[in-house]
Amino acid sequence: MSETRPVALVTGAGSGIGAAIARRLAADGHLVAVNDLDESRVAAMAGEIEAAGGSAIPAVADVSDSAAVDAMFDAVEAAAGPVEVLVNNAGIGGNAAIRNVTDDFWERVLSVDLHGVLYCTRRAVGPMRERRSGSVVTISSRAWLGWWGQSAYAAAKAGVVGMTRALALELASRNVRVNAVAPGIIDTPLLRDRDPERLERLLKSVPLGRPGRVEEVAAAVAFLLRSRAITGQLLYVCGGKSVYAYPDWKDA
Ligand code: NAP
Repeated sequence: MSETRPVALVTGAGSGIGAAIARRLAADGHLVAVNDLDESRVAAMAGEIEAAGGSAIPAVADVSDSAAVDAMFDAVEAAAGPVEVLVNNAGIGGNAAIRNVTDDFWERVLSVDLHGVLYCTRRAVGPMRERRSGSVVTISSRAWLGWWGQSAYAAAKAGVVGMTRALALELASRNVRVNAVAPGIIDTPLLRDRDPERLERLLKSVPLGRPGRVEEVAAAVAFLLRSRAITGQLLYVCGGKSVYAYPDWKDA
């Protein structure tokens, strides 16, 4: 039954935005390969999707390990068939003024947020090219435009925007589309844990005056997946912050 559903591999799907994307793509009729680092988290998300009437398989791997990524795709293809959709969502944050940006910090952020996107995309698009069918959506961040203390994160998230645009051209003749979504401030547990005064200042930098919801990011991903004339684009889900952002702090 599930074999007829197109396979969507979502990285970092055990939590936050990735979990919302996994739920949405399952509801839209995909078999979702649920990637994350933690086996029990992956099993729980796959179980939740199955319990809701969808199809899911576990796909545990560290996206910053290219050999592990290749092995994950091999296993998913063997179990469920070709991967039609890749959502590069796994990512780690990182806030440090430049004086505190160590080599280790820089490499840790880029290894997941930039190199991980390369490893997954490179492996996914090989068979997509052959089949002349497929779609990649990468979760960047509005922060790629620049934000205090985010040189490493912004470099990685800008890197995936460049990669998206280059690959869209490279793969268009093979009917493989490559797009990106740039969330702004999204309502996740991390945000709710902030102290109220800091949260209020942060939300003042959002023209719509509220954080986005994870389901709203998932809706943007779903839109790009079904919009078959769109490739090489970056879609902001940031309440207007990409147009104008008043800073919540200015120290560096
Ligand atoms: P999250 O709740 O921390 O979820 C990210 C998931 O990815 C976690 O389950 C995490 O596992 C997993 N992960 C981390 N490193 C991984 C790796 N090397 N391989 C596989 N999985 C890995 O984060 P989120 O807020 O939903 O963010 C999702 C994406 O949206 C990220 O790319 C982030 O940069 C981007 N984004 C988020 C916001 C926001 O406001 N939340 C705004 C703009 C962009 P662990 O928990 O074990 O690390």
